[in-house]
Amino acid sequence: MTDLAGERERLVRSLARNGIGDERVLEAVARVPRERFVPQHLVGDAYADRALPIGEGQTVSQPWVVARMTELLDVRPTDHVLEVGTGSGYQAAVLAQLVHDVVSVERHAPLAESAAARLAELGYGNVRVVLGDASAGYAPDAPYDRIIVTAATPLIHPELAGQLAPGGRLVAPVGSEQVQELIVRHADGREERHGGVQFVPLLGRAGFRRDGERDGPPPGPR
Ligand code: SAM
Repeated sequence: MTDLAGERERLVRSLARNGIGDERVLEAVARVPRERFVPQHLVGDAYADRALPIGEGQTVSQPWVVARMTELLDVRPTDHVLEVGTGSGYQAAVLAQLVHDVVSVERHAPLAESAAARLAELGYGNVRVVLGDASAGYAPDAPYDRIIVTAATPLIHPELAGQLAPGGRLVAPVGSEQVQELIVRHADGREERHGGVQFVPLLGRAGFRRDGERDGPPPGPR
């Protein structure tokens, strides 16, 4: 039988070696059973540091990218957080341990349903999964202290940025459908760039394609 706990510890050590310096983030990753967020036939790969398919042409992001984006968000225990793109729920589970609550929006009903069930079963009671298009944010629960976009976006839509609370920050992969850069946007409009990544595209009203158009295959491995 595979020693998943041992593999998880090895993954956390490799994240630390590869530049993840925030101990709180490393501890949060160390507590989340990633094997519960991947399809049964990929459980053996759960602690490989790479993205894995989760159905509907979507992926659970690479652990390093999840850790890096969480670190860049610089969360506090009181934060009210919006995640755009629930996917498997893994990123939400990592965040849930570090913040007050997470509202996570997913446009694919089967993914939203299975992520909500999985997060509830694992006891992440401070995550609420909402079905819908959050390419321009999710106004009903705004403002947010932190916003994380976990799909490639052509731009940070003004409506989304407008849902940040004063002093808040947003992290998103911004660029083309093929390659993006991690951007930190502060509520006062300042931006920082943090290196290249590859995500599946954000679809919907303010994404790469509108709802109703066919989803293409994911462009890259994350
Ligand atoms: N954070 C996820 C995790 O931990 O598994 C991985 C996210 S996956 C790379 C991107 C997700 O964004 C997909 O599940 C996709 O369906 C979702 N998505 C794409 N466009 C969206 C939109 N406009 N609103 C909400 N979710 C969207």
